[in-house]
Amino acid sequence: MPLYRDEAIVLRTHKLGEADRIITLLTRQHGRVRAVARGVRRTTSRFGSRLEPFMHVDLQLSEGRSLDHITQAETLTPFHAGIGGDYDRYTAGTVMLETADRLVAEEREPSLQQFLLLVGGLRVLSSGERRASQVLDSYLLRSLAVAGYAPSFDGCARCGLMGPHRWFNPSLGGMLCATCRVPGSASPAPETLALLGALLAGDWPVVEAAEPRHLREASGLVSAYLAWHLERGLRSLEYVER
Ligand SMILES: [Zn+2]
Repeated sequence: MPLYRDEAIVLRTHKLGEADRIITLLTRQHGRVRAVARGVRRTTSRFGSRLEPFMHVDLQLSEGRSLDHITQAETLTPFHAGIGGDYDRYTAGTVMLETADRLVAEEREPSLQQFLLLVGGLRVLSSGERRASQVLDSYLLRSLAVAGYAPSFDGCARCGLMGPHRWFNPSLGGMLCATCRVPGSASPAPETLALLGALLAGDWPVVEAAEPRHLREASGLVSAYLAWHLERGLRSLEYVER
């Protein structure tokens, strides 16, 4: 069986048979990979604890006929240590893993940018140096942008007319001018729009200076935008306190 190595974040796991698990990974070089880890649910397993969600691992895999097998796993960064014990970080991190899983839909299609974005996001989240909901919103906007769904916060998403505009509609791709606006569009505060742009750009001084009501409004719009682009909403997002 040909062997290969890769670096990965564990997105989720499920049980297989008596003692095995199927591990869904976002890898650096091979995109999203589902692989079997044999015997990891036994207490004697050498690497079971390294293959839990949030773990950043270096893996050796052997190519299988349908699913590959994980033959070695070394911890690179134990992100779960800084995330698992804190409700806000844990719920935000769970949404990040689920979003990465859904946005990198094709297996084995390399998505280096999504991988780097997720590793960077989990690193900041586990350090606790920024508020979990802000790390989450910034991650969601950027991962949507990398997936080709960059929202427009200045020009009209329909006709391209330069803003600032007043109307926001997730299903039409962002801000709309007075001519293109459709019923049911939101009209966020100008400060919220500036905040959304800052979250997308990673402009943290602007994010940190924002007022709570604008942060809440921005989170609501990010959630609506994500829900629209993922067809089915994310169940994990319901647990994030806004
Ligand atoms: Zn327009």
